Amino acid sequence: MATFDLSLLAGDTNHPYRVQCEQWKLMQFLQEKLQQEGADVRFGHEVTAVRQDGDVVTVTANTAAGPVEIAGRYMMAADGARSAVRRSLGIEFEGFTYAELFLIASTAFPFEKTLTDIAYVNYIADPLEWLVLLRVPGLWRVLVPAPENSDREQLLSDDNLQAMLQRVVHRPEPYTIAHRSIYHVHQRVAKNFRHGRVLLAGDAAHVNNPLGGMGMNGGIQDAFNLADKLKAIYAGADDRLLDRYDRQRRTVAVEAVQQHTHRNQQIISERDPETRKKSLDAMRKVAADKVSARDYMLRSSMIASMRRAAEIE
Ligand SMILES: Cc1cc2nc3c(=O)[nH]c(=O)nc-3n(C[C@H](O)[C@H](O)[C@H](O)COP(=O)(O)OP(=O)(O)OC[C@H]3O[C@@H](n4cnc5c(N)ncnc54)[C@H](O)[C@@H]3O)c2cc1C
Repeated sequence: MATFDLSLLAGDTNHPYRVQCEQWKLMQFLQEKLQQEGADVRFGHEVTAVRQDGDVVTVTANTAAGPVEIAGRYMMAADGARSAVRRSLGIEFEGFTYAELFLIASTAFPFEKTLTDIAYVNYIADPLEWLVLLRVPGLWRVLVPAPENSDREQLLSDDNLQAMLQRVVHRPEPYTIAHRSIYHVHQRVAKNFRHGRVLLAGDAAHVNNPLGGMGMNGGIQDAFNLADKLKAIYAGADDRLLDRYDRQRRTVAVEAVQQHTHRNQQIISERDPETRKKSLDAMRKVAADKVSARDYMLRSSMIASMRRAAEIE
């Protein structure tokens, strides 16, 4: 229907391309970097509660050796969508959960040799079974929707995944399946990103459907934004700067990320033929015009939301 070429963003970023970096790899880079910086990284500490007194925030964590307390001036809670910190502070996680599940299978089969017009990242609209085909190093990741009330074991079974992959490209041999997983998908944003000395970031603060690849990227943008502010505060700036973190990052999570990802989900799964034709024609038109394609990619690459956040006082 439409192909978007990220090199059109060459004037907007030094990196006008998409990097498909699995999060476990990113974690290894970050851990090495933290060690070089002399940071104290502790695994096996499950935070169960947070308390704030005066200018100190203290977390209680369960460890193999029993509970411990750790205190500091500020806390950045990046403990994921089920954030124990967010729950412990009673911060609402407003939004909804999609009715369908997202089913993923990865295979080394070279889809690009059979489907010769595909890109590295493909969103394939279909009224019955939409599809995402994503190239990661050495594998293709295939994502399809699955009915909410189905049996998870059956969905993840060889039979079901083989049948699903055979619908993508029919071949006489079975596929080798390297990974499989299944997810509930949500669109939710925490009511506040700041609670006194505790700041929420990443999935603890916002979750969205994965169509558009905005979740981890949004979390990384939170981390950069917040780290700059904490650095300024440790150098003497007023800590009201942290309210600005809330205003900037929460606003773009609601306005940009939630809207963009939900719209992607609507376009890819639209069943009404008239609406489907309209939105796919609109997409073709955007891709065919360099100015509107650049504008679209500024939003899809989240450069626009970073610029928008920077404008918020
Ligand atoms: C199918 C799918 C595809 C996706 N694709 C993309 C994509 O292409 N691009 C993209 O940008 N994003 C993508 N995402 C979103 C991305 O995976 C998440 O946004 C990202 O993993 C969030 O990172 P995080 O560090 O905030 O949270 P998490 O990765 O959930 O990390 C939270 C960490 O906190 C730890 N933790 C949890 N509770 C506690 C506790 N009580 N005490 C101590 N530690 C705790 C956990 O062990 C974990 O290490 C995708 C998501 C899904 C489901």
